[in-house]
Amino acid sequence: MELIYADNNATTAVAPEVREVMAPYLADDYFNPSSMYEPARRTAHAVEAARATIAGLLGMGDPSELVFTGGATESNNAALFGAARANPGRRHVITTAVEHPAVLEVAEEMARQGFAVDFLPVDRQGRLDIKDLIRALRPDTLIVSAMHANNETGVVFPVAELARVVKETDPAILFHTDATQSVGKLPVDLSGEHANVDLLSFSGHKLHAPKGVGGLFIRRGSRWRPFLVGGHQERNRRAGTENVPYVVGLAVAVELAARHREKEAAHLASLRDRLEALLVERIPYVAVNGREAPRLPSTLNVAIHFIEGEGMLYQLDAFGICASSGSACTSGSLEPSHVLRAMQVPFTAVHGSVRFSFSRYNTMAEVERIAEVFPEIVARLRRLSPYWDTERNTPRPEALAMLESTASPAESADRPSAHGNSA
Ligand code: PMP
Repeated sequence: MELIYADNNATTAVAPEVREVMAPYLADDYFNPSSMYEPARRTAHAVEAARATIAGLLGMGDPSELVFTGGATESNNAALFGAARANPGRRHVITTAVEHPAVLEVAEEMARQGFAVDFLPVDRQGRLDIKDLIRALRPDTLIVSAMHANNETGVVFPVAELARVVKETDPAILFHTDATQSVGKLPVDLSGEHANVDLLSFSGHKLHAPKGVGGLFIRRGSRWRPFLVGGHQERNRRAGTENVPYVVGLAVAVELAARHREKEAAHLASLRDRLEALLVERIPYVAVNGREAPRLPSTLNVAIHFIEGEGMLYQLDAFGICASSGSACTSGSLEPSHVLRAMQVPFTAVHGSVRFSFSRYNTMAEVERIAEVFPEIVARLRRLSPYWDTERNTPRPEALAMLESTASPAESADRPSAHGNSA
């Protein structure tokens, strides 16, 4: 059975070009870049060349503004905790209700440490209201952290505008964005459109580099202190021997994505739009989460009313189709996604959302196959659903009445109470 991998927001295949450029550094060129002999100097140069490439492609003013990390989780932790360390007088943090746990949990930890934390709500399409941000800003605000593109829905926040508003209010407030899902897919220009962003996180494994490598952009002059301390690597900003092969691979991955971005975006949008159209046509009681909002071209999150996401994933898996649901298993209980709850996705669908996410390696034939298999899976599971009247093949009247009600008043509050490990 041919595998159809449609879960590229969770992770991506390492590109052959990336594997190729990494290979020598996993073999003969294994030297520590800090060592004082010629072969080691070559590895140090490789790291600096990678830094310059990525810095150039993301519009950084200087390569030294890029610190290599072990991925976006580390970059996000470093951004927020590093900001706090450098600005002890500022005790207020603003983020959004729909961030990845790698920001949300950091914000929760800061709240436990005594910071005041605001989680900005989103509307039913997953959009922020900039007025909510303006109202939330305080004289003691340390940092605003708002993601560029959402990993579950693909909804894109107007990061350039958010950052501008923050800086116009108080230039000392740091603006951070988790750009893990957007780098390589959307334009990022830290000297142009995104010139007000101080800190930006990204990760290799979402753009065809390996897992365990990423970056944190720290604008020159930002008040920020290191998070990981130890050796003097990365100009004392991130201790630990450089991951030479992965850093070299990361640069090629960013380069490939940048070089082909427009063509790839068109390809991804054609796959996503086709799947979206077919599923909406073939499945009754389906909604597209974030449909009215600007979205990544690669991501389709569908709310399937009256059934559970997990059931659908198991059945898709049986057909060799890899996708994701909005729910994540949190300490044994299935919690609906905090993102969909914040968007007030109706109760009948908040557990039944499925995410398909594509990459350059997906094809239209795969989309057609998903669109053939998935509606049948939905129909089969609905026949087993307590909300479904199998004889009449429609939802039961009491289920229909619930269609517009969100998870529960408490659960749909803007502040998330629990979040899983959604990728
Ligand atoms: N932020 C977002 C938006 C993500 O999608 C992910 C990956 N699921 C992360 C952060 C964490 O990235 P990493 O796996 O590189 O730590």
